[in-house]
Amino acid sequence: MSPLRAVETASTQLWLPAVLQHELSRFAQASYPLEACGLLVGRAGDTKIDTVRVVPARNLNLERPEDRYLLDPQDFLATDRAARAEGLEIVGIWHSHPDHPARPSGTDLESAWEGYSYLIISTTADGAAALRSWRLVGDRFVEEAVEQEDTEP
Ligand SMILES: [Zn+2]
Repeated sequence: MSPLRAVETASTQLWLPAVLQHELSRFAQASYPLEACGLLVGRAGDTKIDTVRVVPARNLNLERPEDRYLLDPQDFLATDRAARAEGLEIVGIWHSHPDHPARPSGTDLESAWEGYSYLIISTTADGAAALRSWRLVGDRFVEEAVEQEDTEP
């Protein structure tokens, strides 16, 4: 089964304010041409995932950091602890795909858990490009709509 196949859409929407999208693009682009990764902190409702904060984490994959990531478990625990102290939680995991589309790879599928948004940012030498979110449903990823709150004029 191809991990790239995604014909359905997720029942959830990921809300990511424009200011956080820009912050994410900066984090992702700062690691180019290597993969960057990190966490999304916020509130997860039944259908609406609210992102309050984006957090960078260390990529511990030193063998293939150009196309693999291993999010530092210590960063995960520290972020989880800080989020809970504020009544928030980790709602997703983000990582970049240098010079590749913002679609999950087979490796991404193998290491994914249900219940999280997997946000992927495509990075290029010219800057961050597409940003798409995915959720694991059973044994495959389905795409999740990324919504952005209206910004003040
Ligand atoms: Zn990936």
